Amino acid sequence: MAKIIDGKAIAGHIKQKLKTDADKLKENGIMPGLAVVLVGNNPASLVYVRAKGKACDEVGIASFQHNLPEDIRQEELIELIKKLNADTPHLNEEAVLETILPSKDVDGFHPFNVGRLVTGKPLLQPCTPYGIMKILESEGIEISGKHAVIIGRSNIIGKPAAIMLLQRNATVTICHSKTKDLPHITRQADILIAAVGKPKMVKGDWIKQGAVVIDVGVNRLENGTLVGDVDFEEAKAVSSAITPMPGGVGPMTIAMLLNNTIDAAKRQQQKGIFKGLK
Ligand code: NAP
Repeated sequence: MAKIIDGKAIAGHIKQKLKTDADKLKENGIMPGLAVVLVGNNPASLVYVRAKGKACDEVGIASFQHNLPEDIRQEELIELIKKLNADTPHLNEEAVLETILPSKDVDGFHPFNVGRLVTGKPLLQPCTPYGIMKILESEGIEISGKHAVIIGRSNIIGKPAAIMLLQRNATVTICHSKTKDLPHITRQADILIAAVGKPKMVKGDWIKQGAVVIDVGVNRLENGTLVGDVDFEEAKAVSSAITPMPGGVGPMTIAMLLNNTIDAAKRQQQKGIFKGLK
């Protein structure tokens, strides 16, 4: 029977430490702040943004929300980001993303931060895969030499997760919608990460006995319930540890966003590493 990984509890520990860091920064006259720019009113995004604001309050990070209409002109959005770049404390598709200063890119999506990650010198790292790495670390799960299989190759989850695991000496396989015989591959995984967006796609017989399963998916069923990409009940019976949904990866994403906000605020003092970047 698998150990159910309590992502909420791990995130709580991280936030406790971040609160101390935030207090120290404030003592030194630096007020860490997180600006969230939301375009349109996607209900899932609204929930995530609300959770970010609440988490900022807990840690003592100032939060600023900018809600913009779906039909906002690109120039107006870029103008707002430039204003946020010029703001002393703070923080995110292509043109808009690249307008954000890499030093304030707390989502870790700017090409500069992506490049640093890929070359093994990470600065600000994407929150969800970063949170997954923290879960593995916190649970004492060995990564080196293990076969990690990731389902999903998005820029925000699958690809960066693969790089991070590779950096920690895992042997990594990335699967996607064109992968043939997916269950055959997933059954080889010591660490299986599902980041697909398909409710309960990963079945118990897709999982090797004793594997660690990280379920990133967030899917709403017609009856309103939220489920992951993994059939939790089936997977629980074969894996050695598994993240539930909710209460697994989600809280860690937010905790790592706060972590990046504090990290970025600290680096504002140093400047050095981002110096000269426009
Ligand atoms: P995405 O950009 O839609 O990527 C989904 C990936 O899954 C793609 O690479 C796609 O392959 C692959 N895929 C789709 N159907 C497949 C199939 N039948 N077999 C194998 N692979 C398949 O999604 P995302 O942004 O990475 O997010 C993935 C999930 O994580 C979503 O449910 C999202 O809501 C959730 N999420 C959770 C958190 C959190 O904090 N817990 C944060 C962000 C996102 P192709 O590349 O070939 O199309």
